[in-house]
Amino acid sequence: MIDEFFILRRDGLTLFHITLEENLYIIQMPTDLFAGFSSAIVAFASELGSGHLSKIEIEDQIYVYEVMKDFITVARISSDDDETIAEHVVAILYREFVREYKDELKDYDGTVRRDLFFPFSEKVKKIITKCEKIAEKNPHLLANIPPSIELDAIEKLSDFSEELVVNFPEATIKLTREFQRKLPADLMHYTMFRLGKEVGKDVAQKKIKKKVNDKSLMKLLKKISVCSLDENVVTLQICPFCRGRETEEHDCDFVAGFIEGAYNDSGISAREINCHAVGDQYCKFRIYKN
Ligand SMILES: [Zn+2]
Repeated sequence: MIDEFFILRRDGLTLFHITLEENLYIIQMPTDLFAGFSSAIVAFASELGSGHLSKIEIEDQIYVYEVMKDFITVARISSDDDETIAEHVVAILYREFVREYKDELKDYDGTVRRDLFFPFSEKVKKIITKCEKIAEKNPHLLANIPPSIELDAIEKLSDFSEELVVNFPEATIKLTREFQRKLPADLMHYTMFRLGKEVGKDVAQKKIKKKVNDKSLMKLLKKISVCSLDENVVTLQICPFCRGRETEEHDCDFVAGFIEGAYNDSGISAREINCHAVGDQYCKFRIYKN
């Protein structure tokens, strides 16, 4: 549960403030009473610079906040709440706020029309509800996807998350290819690997039902494509994950993560070493065993 959410300007001026009271979100008039606490956050934030997600713990409350350019978005949760929800909420609502009030914010001085941003509460409630719904359905999903990724893409993946596992490999291939296209280049490798690892773990648990070894891994991968394992290198002869794509860098992080996740062993990792998408003949993945 997000118990409180607010947006501050970096000079400490409160722009928007909402609190959860008896399961209802109530908009608060941004008053100066709030300045004491907000100045503490501003002081922490000024040390951080722009583009940082951080948190302060005060007794059993956690303030998760993101500092971006001119603003700070803050969500307060209890220490037993899911922090990843708060991380996504502050990042998403920062983007939405700046997008929606770009013009109004230019010369806003906070002395008149303090209710100017009240309508934003609808967006705040909607985003919080969506994030909580995703987290309830897929406890690991938000933790594995960076908050800078648009919520619609995460939501779609969440809605079909059972299919990713149950209808492996057809739905897995289709949905992950779709999701990968929506990711910014700088986060794509990391995100797809983490996602693959999670899905690999779940698919192996469901289909193999005991600890995965080389033989049972190949049984799983054979459902994807003609493949072989030789000296800890898996070769996918026709890789449906990167089929039809031409890229500068390796493209099949999902498969590398999937292999690592399927073993579910902290001593085993996997990386893609060749990829059809960059012009190699086959996609190949090296398995490292400690
Ligand atoms: Zn590939």
